[in-house]
Amino acid sequence: MEKGQNLISGNWLNSKSEDIIHLTNPSDGDNFASIPRSDANDIDLAAKSARQAFEKHWSKTPAFERGKYLQKISYKINESIDELAFIESKDTGKPLKQSKVDAQVAARYFEFYAGAADKIHGEVIPSQYGINSFTKREPHGVTGHIIPWNYPLQMGSRTFAASLAAGNCIVIKPAEEACLSVLKIANFALESGLPPDVINIVTGYGEEIGPYLCKHSDIDHVCFTGSPEVGSIVQQNAALNNKSCTMELGGKSPHIVFSDCDLESAMPVILNSIIQNSGQTCSAGSRLLIDENVKEKFLSIFIDKFSKLMVGSAEMDLDMGPLISETQKNRVISFYNKSKDENIPILASGSISKNVSKNGYYVNPVLIGPVPVDSVLAKDEIFGPYLSMIPFSNEEEAISIANGTDYGLTAGVWTKDGSRQMRLANSLKCGQVFINCYGAGGGVEIPFGGMKKSGFGREKGMEGLKELTVCKTIVQKFN
Ligand code: NAP
Ligand code: MG
Repeated sequence: MEKGQNLISGNWLNSKSEDIIHLTNPSDGDNFASIPRSDANDIDLAAKSARQAFEKHWSKTPAFERGKYLQKISYKINESIDELAFIESKDTGKPLKQSKVDAQVAARYFEFYAGAADKIHGEVIPSQYGINSFTKREPHGVTGHIIPWNYPLQMGSRTFAASLAAGNCIVIKPAEEACLSVLKIANFALESGLPPDVINIVTGYGEEIGPYLCKHSDIDHVCFTGSPEVGSIVQQNAALNNKSCTMELGGKSPHIVFSDCDLESAMPVILNSIIQNSGQTCSAGSRLLIDENVKEKFLSIFIDKFSKLMVGSAEMDLDMGPLISETQKNRVISFYNKSKDENIPILASGSISKNVSKNGYYVNPVLIGPVPVDSVLAKDEIFGPYLSMIPFSNEEEAISIANGTDYGLTAGVWTKDGSRQMRLANSLKCGQVFINCYGAGGGVEIPFGGMKKSGFGREKGMEGLKELTVCKTIVQKFN
């Protein structure tokens, strides 16, 4: 059985407690690896290691040198796409082709932030003669990162690379359901010559060690991705030491389809955005808002495409893999049951291959509708392959429905009318608006993050670096 370990000061270690957690392959339910079930002592060691690294050498390392390490890690990832994809698929259950994309994106994050490390500029501010005022962006010092199980490779890489580029040392707590790819990337970092105390990783249960990480006095800023409920707990713990946070908390993102749109190009994008990673994507397009005038035409083709979707193990590499865990499967089934209780019609569903293991966590993708706007199926994040169709009769109504949830992460707008595109872009309360396209979470270079309960702060692109630095103002008097 494979064995993951904590990484503290460059040493791969078991937890002081010697407890372990078994990792499960979602495709067949097998226990195939173990990781440490860490405790507060391990968090303390990791935070102290990162703090020392920052004080002793990392804060004095030139920005372009930091970038060079990141570039080397990116090369290592690019040389190991298949190996990383295999690990990610075994750990998360996602089809191999998707894990390969995730590995390529992981390499891009390191490449992007390698180039960005020496381009984090301040400003000179004109004030009065004899006064020189300027700002510089300084690293927080030590950043703590709580990474979810849905995209460990991508999310681990984006937060890891950006924070090191900004000049911080880091402590990472990956999700216990899927963390092996994050450990592998850390190993690449060590092989690339990154000073070993700069990156520290502690595995374990979020409930048990998360609070220690969030309130630890050696950690200056917390980056969290996960549910709004846990995000709120993270903020409360961080507040005990008055530290800042970045919160990425999911969504209930709409596709808004108008009758004048190019249906053929819209359909595959809309379909992919709900089945990618079995719907376990914060920016999944989980609501299909559709103009009454085009509803019948759209659905007649879309239902056919949806019904052909095939679900199988990660190795079978079909349209969709299993969900991450039994817990997540039960959560999604509870939403199926709610839609039955509400008598919402099932318009289409896919098929699970007969060759899958009975012990895997498989569910069928489902298209339901019309869904009443006040139903939980129209408002709650399901985090599964569950698409709610909601018709609308005019633009104003479409905007009102789109904005009618607690979330505000992303939205897709499908129309050829340029003025309408801009009206929608301005009216939608969310962090990203895609017009006649939709990228789950957008690209490496594009700022990403939410409004309302989808969180605050931005990741990705140059904007993400702002969160990982603090602005210092320097005012110099001269004669
Ligand atoms: P979650 O409970 O919010 O967990 C996210 C991360 O927080 C994990 O690393 C988790 O660790 C950690 N955590 C749990 N309790 C903590 C605490 N008290 N203090 C600090 N960290 C803590 O999410 P989940 O259970 O994995 O999934 C539940 C729902 O959250 C999903 O159905 C979905 O709606 C949402 N979600 C959203 C995203 C997103 O990308 N926005 C990602 C994941 C989940 P452990 O895993 O080790 O417990
Ligand atoms: Mg797993």
